[in-house]
Amino acid sequence: CYRKGGYHAVRVGDTFNAARYVAQRKLGWGQFSTVWLAYDTRSSSYVALKIQKSAAQFVQAALHEIEVLSVIANGDPSNSKCVVRLIDHFKHTGPNGQHLCMVLEFLGDSLLQLVRYNRYKGLALNKVREICKCILTGLDYMHRELGIIHTDLKLENILLSSTIDPGKDPVKSGLTPILERPEGSLNGGATMNIIEKKLKQRAKRAVAKISERRASMGGVVVQKSERSLDGIDMMCKVVDFGNACWADKQFAEEIQTRQYRAPEVVLRAGYSFSVDMWSFACTAFELATGDMMFAPKNGQGFSEDEDHLALMMELLGKMPRKIAVGGTRSKDFFDRHGDLKRIRRLKYWPLDKLLIEKYKFSEADAHEFAEFLCPLLDFAPEKRPTAQQCLQHPWLNLRTSTQSEMNNESTVENLDSRVSKLQIRGGW
Ligand code: ADP
Ligand code: MG
Repeated sequence: CYRKGGYHAVRVGDTFNAARYVAQRKLGWGQFSTVWLAYDTRSSSYVALKIQKSAAQFVQAALHEIEVLSVIANGDPSNSKCVVRLIDHFKHTGPNGQHLCMVLEFLGDSLLQLVRYNRYKGLALNKVREICKCILTGLDYMHRELGIIHTDLKLENILLSSTIDPGKDPVKSGLTPILERPEGSLNGGATMNIIEKKLKQRAKRAVAKISERRASMGGVVVQKSERSLDGIDMMCKVVDFGNACWADKQFAEEIQTRQYRAPEVVLRAGYSFSVDMWSFACTAFELATGDMMFAPKNGQGFSEDEDHLALMMELLGKMPRKIAVGGTRSKDFFDRHGDLKRIRRLKYWPLDKLLIEKYKFSEADAHEFAEFLCPLLDFAPEKRPTAQQCLQHPWLNLRTSTQSEMNNESTVENLDSRVSKLQIRGGW
C-alpha cells in the first residue's frame, strides 16, 4: 500500500537525509515499514534504512522504537551486547506524507531463513549453543541493565551478524556503491527503464558479492543454496523493538507472537521479563529441531488459546491449579478445579522423551537439552531463571562430538508424529 499514510516508494539511487544515505536495494519489510540497504556516504559503509509508513499511528510507533533503540545504543558504547544498533534517525518527506526513518547497522539473514536453508532439519547443537549465548547476552542486557522487555522474541527477530564488516571497505569488498540516480532518469520513459534495470542488476550483483564474501570469511549466511554451516561463526543480534516496553510501563495486555506466547499472557495474569525467557526457550527448541514448540490451532468446540494451554500441559505437565485460575481470562478455559473445560484428555509427552522419540536425539543430548529448557518453561513466571542465571548454565558450555551431531540432525520424515498428535484432537 504505497498510498497516503502508507509506505514510501523508494528507487535504487534515491537519497535521504540531505543526501547522506543512498538507497541500494530492498532488504525486507514488516507491517509498518520497508527496509533498504543504503550506502552511508559519511562513514563509507553500508547500513539498513528502515522507512516507516507515514500515518499518525506508525509515526507514534516509530518514535517509540527510536526511543527504545536510543536507550539501547547509549548503554552499549562498544556495541557488544548482541542487540541491533541505531546509527541515526530522521524525517523524510515524500508524496505519501512524512516518514520517520531509522538507520540501523546492516545485519544478515534471520534465524528463520537459516532454519529454512537447512530444510527445517534443526541445527547442530553446538551451533544452537552459540546462538543461545548471543540471545541471552542481549536479553540480560535489556532486562537487567535497561528494564526493557522485548515481548516479540522469535526466529524472525534475530538476525545473523558478522564480526567483520566488509561493508566498511567497499573497495575491498568488491562493491562499488551506487551514489546517485543518473541525470534524466526522473523524466520517465524508456531511458529510465533501461537505466533502472541496469541499476537494479548492479545492486543485486553487489549484494551477492557482500554475501559471498561474508560467508567465505565465516560471517553471515545469505545464499539460499544448500551449504554446510560448518565453520560459520554464529554471532547474532536481537532486532525489532517496535513492541518492546519497560517493565514498569506496559502498553498492551496481549503481547508476543502466538507460538512464542507465555501462559500468563494467554491467561491475562500480568507479565514481566520472564515472558522473554519463555519465548527464548521456544526459540531454542525450534533451532534444534526445526519445528515450533507449540503450534496451536482452534478446533471443534475449542479455541486456539485452549489448544495452546493443552499443548503446554501435554509437554510440561499439569498447570498448578492456583496458576490456572489466576488470570482474568482463566474462567474461559479452566473449571474451578483447574481442569480445561473443553479439552479433557491430554496426551502427556515430556520434552526429553519427545526429543528422543520424535527428533532422534541421543539419550544424553535429550536429557541435557531438556534440563536446560524445562526451568525456562515453568508455569510460575517468577520461578523461571533470569537471562543472567541462564548464561551460567553448564549446557551452554558443553560440546557435542561431530559424530553424535550428525545423528542428531532430525530428518524430514520424522516430522509427522507431531502432526498425528495434533490430529488426535482435531478429530475430537
Ligand atoms: P517491522 O517493525 O516493520 O516488522 P523489522 O524491524 O522487523 O520491521 O524489519 C523488517 C525486515 O527488514 C526484517 O525481517 C529483515 O528482513 C529486514 N531488516 C530489518 N533490520 C535489518 C538490519 N539491521 N539489517 C538487515 N536487514 C534488516
Ligand atoms: Mg518485524
